[in-house]
Amino acid sequence: MIRLLAQSLGSPAGLESILFVATIVVCWAAESVHAHAGSRRKYKRARINSSFVIIALPIQIVMGGFCAGVASYVTMHHWGLLYLVPWHESALIKYGLMFVFLDFLDYVYHYIMHHVPLLWKLHLVHHTDRGMDVSTTVREHPGETCVRNGFLIVWVVLSGASLEILLARQAVETLSNILSHSSFRLPASVARVLGWALITPNLHHVHHHARLPYTDMNYGDVFSIWDRMFTTLSDLPAPATEFGLDTHLPREGDDSFLRGLAMPFC
Ligand SMILES: [Zn+2]
Ligand SMILES: [Zn+2]
Repeated sequence: MIRLLAQSLGSPAGLESILFVATIVVCWAAESVHAHAGSRRKYKRARINSSFVIIALPIQIVMGGFCAGVASYVTMHHWGLLYLVPWHESALIKYGLMFVFLDFLDYVYHYIMHHVPLLWKLHLVHHTDRGMDVSTTVREHPGETCVRNGFLIVWVVLSGASLEILLARQAVETLSNILSHSSFRLPASVARVLGWALITPNLHHVHHHARLPYTDMNYGDVFSIWDRMFTTLSDLPAPATEFGLDTHLPREGDDSFLRGLAMPFC
């Protein structure tokens, strides 16, 4: 496992993982400074949320490596919808269109996670964080890590995405995910303009509101256009937003890593 980890860290995917961790740490520190050295609550949530990474990491390395192999295979054998598109050799189609299509598939994935009861049991762990900051980004049940990578492998076979586009998309998606979970909100006027095309922190905060219908809104990953198209876009001012999940609202002191791990089975 250690050799696998070392090999992985030397790869482009490994470098992205290092950048991912570095970005989260810098953003989390900025949030702490802004919140005046944060609070014991923020530290506790960071400890719980980062514990999920320890279990997710080996799953991510093994399944991510397999997904990279599948992407190379489909590119070599010209599998997938990409090859049905005229001028698929052009950079605009190969990278631009494919990036947008993969974003649509991520919207579909997120919608499925909310609407298939068995999968929702895994995904709700992400939603049960009673606060919101960049550490929430990594709060993912290991069962969801398996499902997410499984879906990505299916999306690669379906779309014909190459390893290059997967890595490029991963870099943009990671940055977008970290920023959208940040406790920093954009001024309303800026958020309104950016929100026409992109998922802003303001929009993703709505998705983390404790009550329906807001929990089932704003599924988008990088672009907000899918939510606009399928009428799942919604807005909610900061004072009205309560983070968590009304069906699983333990007192804040009761949240723990082991409780989160057991949650899908309770
Ligand atoms: Zn969700
Ligand atoms: Zn989220």
